[in-house]
Amino acid sequence: MHKQGHFGLGLLSTSVLTLLLLEGGFFLWAPLIGLAGIAGGLTPDIDNKQIVPFKHHGWTHTVVFGLFISAIISGCLFGVFHAAIRLTSGTTFAITSPPLLGNLALAILLYVGTLAGFLSHLFGDTLSTAGGTLLIRPWKPISNNHVRIGVTTAGNPVYNLAFFLLGVISHILPYYVYL
Ligand SMILES: [Zn+2]
Repeated sequence: MHKQGHFGLGLLSTSVLTLLLLEGGFFLWAPLIGLAGIAGGLTPDIDNKQIVPFKHHGWTHTVVFGLFISAIISGCLFGVFHAAIRLTSGTTFAITSPPLLGNLALAILLYVGTLAGFLSHLFGDTLSTAGGTLLIRPWKPISNNHVRIGVTTAGNPVYNLAFFLLGVISHILPYYVYL
């Protein structure tokens, strides 16, 4: 799957959380969780960059890496949220800091959202019919077994566009209903 499809899947993976947060009145948290899903959903393909010392569809496409990198990404998003609280303090757009338990809940939700996005990427790549070194082996280092659902080519424009649109719509609808 290409970036467009992974973007959509990342959004799809956090759409239920977004809906629940909007229903609960957490209007600032909801878009953050969507961002976490997108970030997690796009992260595995950093192995396309030359500075990353892993082969494509290697270690960055494993659950172990997802558990690790999701902590870093969600920690960064948590930091950005608190930076926004400080920056807006005293202005008309002031964001109030949640209480301790609220902060803990936000940190957990950001981690869950990022990991959901990450896992949605692995799912998207298993749909590809590609074989050989492009096979996804998500259980490494515990098992070297690959996972392939194999229903389309990675670049299939219909699948990519369909997931992109589904993801975007799955977020627009809750905002439309609750805002
Ligand atoms: Zn990938």
